[in-house]
Amino acid sequence: MRDFSAMKRVVIKVGTNLITRDNGIDEARIVDICRQIASLREKGYQVILVSSGAVGLGAKELGHGKKIAYVPMRQACAAIGNPILMSHYRKAFSIYDTICAQVLLTRRDLNNRTTYNNLRASVSTLLTLGVIPVFNENDVVANTNEIGEIFGDNDRMSAMIASKIDADLLILLTDIDGVYTGNPKSDKDAVFIPEIEHVSGKIMSYAKGAGSTFSTGGMKTKLMAAQIASMAHCGTIIASGYEKDSLIRIMAGELVGTYIHPEKKLTQRQRWIINNSHVGAIMVDKGAKKALGDKKSLLPSGVVGVVGVFDAGDVVAIMDTDGFVFAKAVPYFNSTDIALMKGLSTQEAAKAISKAHIDCLFRPEDLVLTDA
Ligand code: GLU
Repeated sequence: MRDFSAMKRVVIKVGTNLITRDNGIDEARIVDICRQIASLREKGYQVILVSSGAVGLGAKELGHGKKIAYVPMRQACAAIGNPILMSHYRKAFSIYDTICAQVLLTRRDLNNRTTYNNLRASVSTLLTLGVIPVFNENDVVANTNEIGEIFGDNDRMSAMIASKIDADLLILLTDIDGVYTGNPKSDKDAVFIPEIEHVSGKIMSYAKGAGSTFSTGGMKTKLMAAQIASMAHCGTIIASGYEKDSLIRIMAGELVGTYIHPEKKLTQRQRWIINNSHVGAIMVDKGAKKALGDKKSLLPSGVVGVVGVFDAGDVVAIMDTDGFVFAKAVPYFNSTDIALMKGLSTQEAAKAISKAHIDCLFRPEDLVLTDA
Protein backbone atom coordinates (compact mmCIF):
# COMPACT_ATOMS: atom_id res chain seq x y z
CA MET A 1 0.00 0.00 0.00
CA ARG A 2 1.05 3.61 -0.55
CA ASP A 3 0.35 6.22 2.08
CA PHE A 4 -1.50 9.12 0.47
CA SER A 5 -3.52 9.87 3.61
CA ALA A 6 -2.00 13.34 4.14
CA MET A 7 -2.79 14.46 0.60
CA LYS A 8 -5.33 17.18 -0.01
CA ARG A 9 -5.04 18.69 -3.49
CA VAL A 10 -5.03 16.42 -6.53
CA VAL A 11 -4.74 17.23 -10.24
CA ILE A 12 -6.19 14.55 -12.54
CA LYS A 13 -5.46 14.61 -16.26
CA VAL A 14 -7.44 12.57 -18.74
CA GLY A 15 -6.31 12.07 -22.30
CA THR A 16 -8.25 12.24 -25.56
CA ASN A 17 -8.04 8.47 -26.17
CA LEU A 18 -9.61 7.69 -22.85
CA ILE A 19 -12.75 9.78 -23.29
CA THR A 20 -13.43 9.59 -27.01
CA ARG A 21 -14.36 6.85 -29.44
CA ASP A 22 -14.41 6.73 -33.23
CA ASN A 23 -17.77 8.47 -33.39
CA GLY A 24 -17.29 11.07 -30.63
CA ILE A 25 -17.39 11.13 -26.87
CA ASP A 26 -17.31 8.02 -24.69
CA GLU A 27 -20.26 9.00 -22.50
CA ALA A 28 -19.92 6.06 -20.09
CA ARG A 29 -16.23 6.78 -19.49
CA ILE A 30 -16.89 10.44 -18.69
CA VAL A 31 -19.69 9.50 -16.29
CA ASP A 32 -17.39 7.00 -14.61
CA ILE A 33 -14.59 9.57 -14.19
CA CYS A 34 -17.02 12.17 -12.83
CA ARG A 35 -18.48 9.63 -10.39
CA GLN A 36 -15.02 8.92 -8.99
CA ILE A 37 -14.08 12.60 -8.81
CA ALA A 38 -17.33 13.43 -6.99
CA SER A 39 -16.61 10.63 -4.55
CA LEU A 40 -13.08 11.93 -3.89
CA ARG A 41 -14.48 15.38 -3.30
CA GLU A 42 -16.94 13.89 -0.80
CA LYS A 43 -13.95 12.39 1.00
CA GLY A 44 -12.51 15.90 1.37
CA TYR A 45 -10.02 16.04 -1.52
CA GLN A 46 -9.75 19.16 -3.65
CA VAL A 47 -9.80 17.89 -7.21
CA ILE A 48 -8.76 19.71 -10.37
CA LEU A 49 -9.44 18.03 -13.68
CA VAL A 50 -7.37 18.63 -16.81
CA SER A 51 -9.13 17.22 -19.84
CA SER A 52 -7.97 16.90 -23.41
CA GLY A 53 -10.38 16.05 -26.16
CA ALA A 54 -11.45 19.43 -27.54
CA VAL A 55 -9.47 19.19 -30.78
CA GLY A 56 -10.58 15.60 -31.34
CA LEU A 57 -14.24 16.35 -30.67
CA GLY A 58 -14.17 19.46 -32.85
CA ALA A 59 -12.58 17.45 -35.66
CA LYS A 60 -15.20 14.74 -35.35
CA GLU A 61 -17.98 17.35 -35.40
CA LEU A 62 -16.54 18.58 -38.72
CA GLY A 63 -16.24 15.03 -40.01
CA HIS A 64 -12.41 14.92 -40.01
CA GLY A 65 -10.96 11.51 -39.23
CA LYS A 66 -7.23 12.17 -39.42
CA LYS A 67 -4.69 13.92 -37.20
CA ILE A 68 -4.89 17.67 -37.76
CA ALA A 69 -1.51 19.26 -38.38
CA TYR A 70 -2.59 22.63 -39.85
CA VAL A 71 -2.50 24.96 -36.84
CA PRO A 72 -5.47 27.24 -37.70
CA MET A 73 -7.57 24.11 -38.24
CA ARG A 74 -6.49 22.70 -34.82
CA GLN A 75 -7.43 26.05 -33.29
CA ALA A 76 -10.81 25.99 -35.03
CA CYS A 77 -11.40 22.41 -33.89
CA ALA A 78 -10.53 23.39 -30.32
CA ALA A 79 -13.05 26.24 -30.48
CA ILE A 80 -15.74 23.85 -31.70
CA GLY A 81 -14.73 21.02 -29.38
CA ASN A 82 -14.32 22.81 -26.05
CA PRO A 83 -18.02 23.56 -25.50
CA ILE A 84 -18.89 20.03 -26.63
CA LEU A 85 -16.42 18.62 -24.11
CA MET A 86 -17.77 20.83 -21.34
CA SER A 87 -21.38 19.96 -22.11
CA HIS A 88 -20.53 16.30 -21.49
CA TYR A 89 -18.74 17.10 -18.24
CA ARG A 90 -21.63 19.28 -17.07
CA LYS A 91 -24.11 16.51 -17.79
CA ALA A 92 -22.02 13.82 -16.13
CA PHE A 93 -21.13 15.86 -13.04
CA SER A 94 -24.77 16.87 -12.57
CA ILE A 95 -25.67 13.19 -11.99
CA TYR A 96 -23.51 13.49 -8.86
CA ASP A 97 -24.81 16.93 -7.83
CA THR A 98 -21.49 18.48 -8.71
CA ILE A 99 -20.83 21.77 -10.42
CA CYS A 100 -17.89 22.07 -12.79
CA ALA A 101 -16.17 25.12 -14.27
CA GLN A 102 -14.11 25.67 -17.38
CA VAL A 103 -10.61 27.18 -17.20
CA LEU A 104 -8.80 27.72 -20.50
CA LEU A 105 -5.16 28.51 -20.02
CA THR A 106 -2.15 29.60 -22.02
CA ARG A 107 1.41 29.29 -20.88
CA ARG A 108 1.70 33.05 -20.80
CA ASP A 109 -1.02 33.11 -18.11
CA LEU A 110 1.14 31.00 -15.82
CA ASN A 111 4.35 32.88 -16.57
CA ASN A 112 2.88 36.30 -15.90
CA ARG A 113 2.75 37.04 -12.18
CA THR A 114 -0.54 39.01 -12.30
CA THR A 115 -2.52 36.45 -14.30
CA TYR A 116 -0.94 33.64 -12.26
CA ASN A 117 -2.09 35.30 -9.01
CA ASN A 118 -5.56 35.79 -10.50
CA LEU A 119 -5.65 32.13 -11.48
CA ARG A 120 -4.61 30.99 -8.00
CA ALA A 121 -7.33 33.12 -6.45
CA SER A 122 -10.10 31.98 -8.78
CA VAL A 123 -9.14 28.31 -8.57
CA SER A 124 -9.01 28.39 -4.82
CA THR A 125 -12.44 30.08 -4.72
CA LEU A 126 -13.85 27.38 -7.01
CA LEU A 127 -12.36 24.66 -4.81
CA THR A 128 -13.72 26.25 -1.65
CA LEU A 129 -17.16 26.26 -3.29
CA GLY A 130 -16.80 22.53 -4.00
CA VAL A 131 -16.70 23.15 -7.75
CA ILE A 132 -14.47 21.02 -10.00
CA PRO A 133 -12.34 23.23 -12.30
CA VAL A 134 -11.87 21.57 -15.70
CA PHE A 135 -8.72 22.88 -17.38
CA ASN A 136 -7.62 22.72 -20.99
CA GLU A 137 -5.00 24.60 -22.94
CA ASN A 138 -6.58 27.55 -24.73
CA ASP A 139 -5.52 26.24 -28.14
CA VAL A 140 -7.68 28.85 -29.86
CA VAL A 141 -5.38 31.70 -28.86
CA ALA A 142 -2.10 29.97 -27.92
CA ASN A 143 0.55 31.33 -30.25
CA THR A 144 2.11 28.22 -31.66
CA ASN A 145 4.88 30.06 -33.48
CA GLU A 146 6.67 31.35 -30.43
CA ILE A 147 8.83 28.98 -28.41
CA GLY A 148 7.81 29.02 -24.77
CA GLU A 149 4.32 30.27 -25.57
CA ILE A 150 2.53 26.97 -25.57
CA PHE A 151 2.37 24.00 -23.22
CA GLY A 152 2.11 21.78 -26.29
CA ASP A 153 0.36 18.97 -24.49
CA ASN A 154 -1.88 18.63 -21.50
CA ASP A 155 0.52 16.28 -19.70
CA ARG A 156 3.01 19.07 -19.16
CA MET A 157 0.29 21.65 -18.63
CA SER A 158 -1.25 19.56 -15.85
CA ALA A 159 2.18 19.23 -14.21
CA MET A 160 2.73 22.98 -14.33
CA ILE A 161 -0.71 23.57 -12.86
CA ALA A 162 0.01 21.00 -10.14
CA SER A 163 3.30 22.74 -9.44
CA LYS A 164 1.90 26.26 -9.37
CA ILE A 165 -1.12 25.53 -7.20
CA ASP A 166 0.81 23.35 -4.72
CA ALA A 167 -0.94 20.06 -5.51
CA ASP A 168 0.13 16.98 -3.57
CA LEU A 169 -0.49 14.50 -6.35
CA LEU A 170 -0.79 14.52 -10.13
CA ILE A 171 -2.64 11.58 -11.69
CA LEU A 172 -2.15 11.06 -15.42
CA LEU A 173 -4.84 8.69 -16.63
CA THR A 174 -4.00 7.03 -19.90
CA ASP A 175 -4.63 3.84 -21.84
CA ILE A 176 -1.78 1.78 -20.40
CA ASP A 177 -1.39 0.82 -16.79
CA GLY A 178 1.86 2.64 -16.08
CA VAL A 179 5.52 2.85 -17.07
CA TYR A 180 7.24 -0.16 -18.65
CA THR A 181 10.83 -0.75 -19.75
CA GLY A 182 9.51 -0.72 -23.34
CA ASN A 183 6.21 -0.36 -25.14
CA PRO A 184 4.05 -3.20 -23.77
CA LYS A 185 1.82 -3.01 -26.86
CA SER A 186 4.67 -4.05 -29.14
CA ASP A 187 7.38 -5.48 -26.85
CA LYS A 188 6.39 -8.64 -24.96
CA ASP A 189 9.54 -8.44 -22.79
CA ALA A 190 8.65 -4.98 -21.48
CA VAL A 191 8.61 -5.04 -17.66
CA PHE A 192 6.26 -2.93 -15.54
CA ILE A 193 7.89 -0.38 -13.17
CA PRO A 194 5.70 0.24 -10.09
CA GLU A 195 7.84 2.95 -8.42
CA ILE A 196 10.28 5.54 -9.75
CA GLU A 197 12.40 7.50 -7.27
CA HIS A 198 13.92 9.80 -9.88
CA VAL A 199 13.17 10.24 -13.59
CA SER A 200 16.68 9.54 -14.85
CA GLY A 201 17.88 9.53 -18.45
CA LYS A 202 17.57 5.74 -18.36
CA ILE A 203 13.90 5.86 -17.35
CA MET A 204 13.32 8.47 -20.05
CA SER A 205 14.89 6.17 -22.66
CA TYR A 206 12.14 3.58 -22.02
CA ALA A 207 9.55 5.95 -23.46
CA LYS A 208 9.46 6.82 -27.10
CA GLY A 209 7.14 8.43 -29.59
CA ALA A 210 4.03 10.59 -29.37
CA GLY A 211 0.37 9.84 -28.86
CA SER A 212 -2.23 8.69 -31.33
CA THR A 213 -4.58 10.43 -33.79
CA PHE A 214 -5.86 13.46 -31.86
CA SER A 215 -3.73 13.52 -28.71
CA THR A 216 -0.29 15.06 -28.53
CA GLY A 217 1.23 13.38 -25.49
CA GLY A 218 2.85 9.96 -25.13
CA MET A 219 4.76 8.24 -22.33
CA LYS A 220 7.69 10.60 -22.83
CA THR A 221 5.62 13.72 -22.16
CA LYS A 222 4.12 11.95 -19.15
CA LEU A 223 7.57 11.34 -17.70
CA MET A 224 8.53 14.94 -18.44
CA ALA A 225 5.37 16.01 -16.66
CA ALA A 226 6.29 13.82 -13.69
CA GLN A 227 9.70 15.51 -13.59
CA ILE A 228 8.10 18.96 -13.46
CA ALA A 229 5.69 17.88 -10.73
CA SER A 230 8.35 16.13 -8.70
CA MET A 231 10.50 19.27 -8.62
CA ALA A 232 7.54 21.02 -7.01
CA HIS A 233 7.43 18.23 -4.41
CA CYS A 234 4.35 16.74 -6.03
CA GLY A 235 4.21 12.99 -6.73
CA THR A 236 2.78 11.60 -9.98
CA ILE A 237 0.80 8.47 -10.74
CA ILE A 238 0.65 7.24 -14.33
CA ALA A 239 -2.19 4.74 -14.55
CA SER A 240 -4.85 3.28 -16.79
CA GLY A 241 -8.20 5.03 -16.84
CA TYR A 242 -9.76 1.79 -18.05
CA GLU A 243 -9.11 0.04 -14.75
CA LYS A 244 -12.14 -0.12 -12.47
CA ASP A 245 -12.28 2.66 -9.87
CA SER A 246 -8.66 3.56 -10.58
CA LEU A 247 -8.92 7.09 -9.09
CA ILE A 248 -10.59 5.94 -5.89
CA ARG A 249 -8.17 3.06 -5.49
CA ILE A 250 -5.12 5.26 -6.15
CA MET A 251 -6.14 7.71 -3.43
CA ALA A 252 -6.82 4.81 -1.07
CA GLY A 253 -3.16 3.85 -1.50
CA GLU A 254 -3.64 0.72 -3.64
CA LEU A 255 -0.74 -0.19 -5.90
CA VAL A 256 -2.39 1.03 -9.09
CA GLY A 257 -0.12 2.46 -11.81
CA THR A 258 3.45 3.73 -11.55
CA TYR A 259 4.24 6.15 -8.75
CA ILE A 260 6.92 8.74 -9.44
CA HIS A 261 8.12 10.13 -6.13
CA PRO A 262 8.51 13.84 -5.47
CA GLU A 263 12.01 15.30 -5.24
CA LYS A 264 13.06 17.38 -2.28
CA LYS A 265 11.20 20.65 -1.95
CA LEU A 266 12.35 23.62 -4.00
CA THR A 267 11.83 27.18 -2.84
CA GLN A 268 9.08 29.28 -4.45
CA ARG A 269 11.76 31.19 -6.35
CA GLN A 270 13.42 28.01 -7.63
CA ARG A 271 10.01 26.75 -8.76
CA TRP A 272 9.30 30.01 -10.49
CA ILE A 273 12.64 29.70 -12.31
CA ILE A 274 12.12 26.09 -13.29
CA ASN A 275 8.56 26.53 -14.54
CA ASN A 276 9.13 29.72 -16.47
CA SER A 277 9.82 29.50 -20.16
CA HIS A 278 13.29 30.78 -20.93
CA VAL A 279 13.78 33.59 -23.42
CA GLY A 280 17.39 32.94 -24.38
CA ALA A 281 20.44 30.98 -23.34
CA ILE A 282 23.97 31.35 -22.02
CA MET A 283 26.52 28.82 -23.21
CA VAL A 284 29.23 27.99 -20.67
CA ASP A 285 32.50 26.05 -20.81
CA LYS A 286 33.27 22.77 -19.02
CA GLY A 287 34.84 24.44 -15.98
CA ALA A 288 31.86 26.74 -15.47
CA LYS A 289 29.45 23.82 -15.86
CA LYS A 290 31.27 21.98 -13.08
CA ALA A 291 31.38 25.11 -10.89
CA LEU A 292 27.61 25.64 -11.30
CA GLY A 293 27.03 21.98 -10.37
CA ASP A 294 29.12 22.63 -7.22
CA LYS A 295 26.84 25.56 -6.32
CA LYS A 296 29.23 28.36 -7.32
CA SER A 297 28.42 31.63 -9.11
CA LEU A 298 28.81 32.08 -12.86
CA LEU A 299 31.77 34.28 -13.79
CA PRO A 300 32.10 35.98 -17.20
CA SER A 301 35.27 33.96 -17.90
CA GLY A 302 33.15 30.76 -18.11
CA VAL A 303 30.79 32.13 -20.77
CA VAL A 304 31.44 31.07 -24.35
CA GLY A 305 28.30 32.43 -26.00
CA VAL A 306 24.87 34.03 -25.70
CA VAL A 307 21.78 32.90 -27.61
CA GLY A 308 18.75 35.14 -28.16
CA VAL A 309 17.85 38.49 -26.64
CA PHE A 310 16.96 38.81 -22.96
CA ASP A 311 16.83 41.38 -20.20
CA ALA A 312 18.46 41.27 -16.78
CA GLY A 313 16.07 39.32 -14.54
CA ASP A 314 14.64 37.11 -17.32
CA VAL A 315 14.81 33.33 -17.00
CA VAL A 316 17.42 31.93 -19.39
CA ALA A 317 18.60 28.41 -20.21
CA ILE A 318 22.16 27.46 -19.32
CA MET A 319 23.76 25.11 -21.83
CA ASP A 320 27.11 23.42 -22.26
CA THR A 321 29.22 23.62 -25.42
CA ASP A 322 27.30 20.66 -26.89
CA GLY A 323 24.13 22.73 -26.66
CA PHE A 324 22.79 20.55 -23.83
CA VAL A 325 20.60 22.57 -21.43
CA PHE A 326 21.43 21.56 -17.86
CA ALA A 327 20.08 24.49 -15.84
CA LYS A 328 17.91 27.60 -15.82
CA ALA A 329 19.02 30.85 -14.24
CA VAL A 330 18.18 34.50 -13.76
CA PRO A 331 21.21 36.63 -14.72
CA TYR A 332 21.82 40.16 -13.43
CA PHE A 333 22.74 41.43 -16.92
CA ASN A 334 21.05 41.50 -20.31
CA SER A 335 22.17 39.50 -23.34
CA THR A 336 24.09 42.44 -24.89
CA ASP A 337 26.18 42.99 -21.75
CA ILE A 338 26.85 39.29 -21.25
CA ALA A 339 27.99 38.98 -24.88
CA LEU A 340 30.43 41.87 -24.26
CA MET A 341 31.74 40.22 -21.07
CA LYS A 342 32.09 36.64 -22.35
CA GLY A 343 35.45 35.03 -21.63
CA LEU A 344 36.76 38.02 -19.64
CA SER A 345 37.98 38.30 -16.05
CA THR A 346 35.58 40.18 -13.73
CA GLN A 347 37.82 43.28 -13.90
CA GLU A 348 37.93 43.28 -17.73
CA ALA A 349 34.22 42.50 -17.86
CA ALA A 350 33.34 45.49 -15.65
CA LYS A 351 35.37 47.70 -17.96
CA ALA A 352 33.69 46.20 -21.06
CA ILE A 353 30.26 47.34 -19.87
CA SER A 354 31.52 50.59 -18.29
CA LYS A 355 30.92 49.57 -14.68
CA ALA A 356 33.28 50.14 -11.76
CA HIS A 357 32.94 46.60 -10.49
CA ILE A 358 31.08 43.31 -11.05
CA ASP A 359 31.07 40.13 -8.92
CA CYS A 360 29.45 37.53 -11.14
CA LEU A 361 26.66 37.05 -13.69
CA PHE A 362 24.41 35.24 -11.20
CA ARG A 363 24.69 33.46 -7.87
CA PRO A 364 23.75 29.87 -6.92
CA GLU A 365 20.35 31.00 -5.55
CA ASP A 366 19.53 32.31 -9.05
CA LEU A 367 20.10 28.91 -10.64
CA VAL A 368 18.22 25.61 -10.73
CA LEU A 369 19.85 22.52 -12.23
CA THR A 370 17.44 20.74 -14.52
CA ASP A 371 19.53 17.67 -15.23
CA ALA A 372 20.77 16.26 -11.94
N1 GLU B 1 -5.61 20.71 -25.81
C1 GLU B 1 -5.82 19.59 -26.67
C2 GLU B 1 -7.29 19.21 -26.76
O1 GLU B 1 -8.06 19.56 -25.93
C3 GLU B 1 -5.11 18.34 -26.23
C4 GLU B 1 -3.65 18.40 -26.01
C5 GLU B 1 -3.14 17.01 -25.62
O2 GLU B 1 -3.50 16.02 -26.26
O3 GLU B 1 -2.39 16.89 -24.65
O4 GLU B 1 -7.68 18.53 -27.64
